Amino acid sequence: MEADFTNKTAIVTGAGSGIGRASAERLATAGAAVVVADIDVAGGHETVDRIEGAGGDAVFVDVDVTDEDDVEAMVETATDEFGSLDIAHNNAGIEGEAAPLTELDSAQWHRVLDINLTGVWLGLKHEIPALIESGGGSIVNTSSIAGLVADGTAPYVASKHAVVGLSKSAAIRYADDGVRVNAICPGVVKTPMVERSLEEHPGAIDQLTADQPLGRMATPEEVADAVAWLVLDAASFINGHSLPIDGGLLAT
Ligand code: NAD
Repeated sequence: MEADFTNKTAIVTGAGSGIGRASAERLATAGAAVVVADIDVAGGHETVDRIEGAGGDAVFVDVDVTDEDDVEAMVETATDEFGSLDIAHNNAGIEGEAAPLTELDSAQWHRVLDINLTGVWLGLKHEIPALIESGGGSIVNTSSIAGLVADGTAPYVASKHAVVGLSKSAAIRYADDGVRVNAICPGVVKTPMVERSLEEHPGAIDQLTADQPLGRMATPEEVADAVAWLVLDAASFINGHSLPIDGGLLAT
């Protein structure tokens, strides 16, 4: 199914790298004007350059998703620059420290919860009124298979389970207003986040690949295709859903 987002505006957080960059590029290729939001200024500008180089329309906003003023300014940029907000992908996230929960300090715990969960809530808080003002729209929040099973560190698993619950809560509350909210639950995706982790544990790649039913990790583009489908009008009855994009990993 060919996506056409001409005359639509999208926000993607964490768009300076990995899944967020692929999502921003996918939405832009299908015609959306994209607000590329990230705390990484260089990465964000690179995404904008890539979109503009391919003939698309994008603007970078320096956003820390845990800072409400930043998030408010991000949404204002969409409506001020492009006249509406129709699509949002709340995707920025971090893995945090690879330590058992008994060895974490409070700052490490809160950092993961603040970015992965509070960042999504702040996005929803400011995006939903703008989507309603634009006549409705669609939001995708990035959770993880760690939002469905305990695959990862405690704060990461807790934050990603919470993103699933938050997405369901927003989905039922704002359905009447024409706003759909879904979560995606990727398995292992070949992004800088995973590459950093593999650098720390060089032997892990073989086991990681062996565990995958398809014998490989997902590409960020495969995740972006699922995002583009979820925000299409063709997915108009998909709401409050948490979509695994895991090559069948959870089915094993
Ligand atoms: P990545 O590290 O490549 O990209 C994450 C981006 O988020 C970076 O550009 C980073 O600068 C940005 N970011 C981090 N903190 C931020 C903040 N406070 N404010 C704004 N931006 C911030 O990682 P990725 O693999 O593309 O991950 C994207 C999302 O997908 C994350 O939520 C992650 O938990 C989730 N995810 C990833 C995988 C995977 O295997 N890579 C699997 C499941 C879920």
